[in-house]
Amino acid sequence: MKTTLPLLLAAGLAGAAEPASLCPEAREHLKALVAVDTSNPPGREAKAAAYLKARLDREGVPAEVVAFGEGRASLIATLRGTGKAKPLLLVCHTDVVPAEASEWATPPFEPVEKDGRLYGRGAADNKGMCAAMLSVLIHLKRAPARRERDVIFLAHGDEESGGNQRHLDWLLERRGEELAAEFGLMEGGNTVWKDGKVAEVRVQVAEKAYLDVTLTARGSGGHASIPREDNAVARLARAVTRIFEHRSPPVVSPLVREFLTRQEALADDETRAALRAVLQAGPEELDPAVDALEAVNSDFAAMLRDTITPTMIQGGYKSNVVPTRAEAVMNARLLPGSSPTRFLSLISAVAGDPSVAVSATVVPESPGPMPVDTGLYRALAEEAGVAAPGAPVMPFMAAWTTDAASLRRKGMVVYGVDLPLSDEDGGRVHGKNERVSLAAFDWYVRFLNSVVRRVAVR
Ligand SMILES: [Zn+2]
Repeated sequence: MKTTLPLLLAAGLAGAAEPASLCPEAREHLKALVAVDTSNPPGREAKAAAYLKARLDREGVPAEVVAFGEGRASLIATLRGTGKAKPLLLVCHTDVVPAEASEWATPPFEPVEKDGRLYGRGAADNKGMCAAMLSVLIHLKRAPARRERDVIFLAHGDEESGGNQRHLDWLLERRGEELAAEFGLMEGGNTVWKDGKVAEVRVQVAEKAYLDVTLTARGSGGHASIPREDNAVARLARAVTRIFEHRSPPVVSPLVREFLTRQEALADDETRAALRAVLQAGPEELDPAVDALEAVNSDFAAMLRDTITPTMIQGGYKSNVVPTRAEAVMNARLLPGSSPTRFLSLISAVAGDPSVAVSATVVPESPGPMPVDTGLYRALAEEAGVAAPGAPVMPFMAAWTTDAASLRRKGMVVYGVDLPLSDEDGGRVHGKNERVSLAAFDWYVRFLNSVVRRVAVR
């Protein structure tokens, strides 16, 4: 650590309490977890849970494996504090998306260290976080310091299944009391790694809701030699195109306004100009300004609107037969405060064809942004100031969806704070040759350790 004494004093416990084995042990856990194939489907997270349990048992941290299917299990460990403050919950998931070994340069379930990076499925999503949390928890147990709150570690399975059937909800239904906490930390944020250091810490305080919309078109069908107007495939294609090309009215929430204002200072010239146009737009100018932003930065534009995009389409079974039915799935992401029911009726209207049915399993609205005037947010911001001097820390809303909403709906203040990833490495998440920079990983382990100590130890 290059931390100087005045900074140490300013940051209280940061750095000073960091044991030498913290990062090396975390790396060891990361490698061990990557070596366990927890591809979902089918999951097989029980092996990862068993690894975590063995490590925690050895340190005397009470941990329980919660089975939820053949070869599948999650783990809950609790390190007790005095109970003066309510618990802190650390959440990670142990399952990974499948990997096509033939497309990888290294075997995906073999941790391979090369040029300062660790390669392997899950290194970034989300085994790095599990490994960091495990090492932090173990070192907290070993430390003589008094903990004023319980620290709960949840390493759960079945996060990558997608959709709205969430294993975390299943766990909360059965083990909600044990998992109840004031604060939670999990994935879903965005920590930017650039030129070998942390450039920005985006703390996720809100996210969009996930909604799958099914379009079903019907027609009379028949012989392909006679084209008919009521062709189900053509009707479906038209409806999908209309919906995809439609743009929902933009909403600039205070959270997104603050985030984009701060991004304006960091962006390249083109993006800065597009952001400025959005931020200064009057009601009439907002829609075209967001369209223009979408052309230069679709990530930022997605924070300003409900979106919907086609992902699956099927219809027909033979090239000379017109089918009577064709179906498409479009995946929608809705802003906090957007009503899924209202969005669906809007989509039906845009489809503009009564022979195309629009349906969905309606999900609850995404919870509004988490408060940032909390002890945990202050700890994140101040410890990031020490660990990554000069790197801005800011709350943000993710256009993607995590399990955070399940915890937030229980009244917990949950932030998404991720392992630092470069743009290049971020692009490999769920793709081939997934990897993390080991320097970035160590940074995260230290940062998490200082934040957890700061909020849990007195
Ligand atoms: Zn993940």
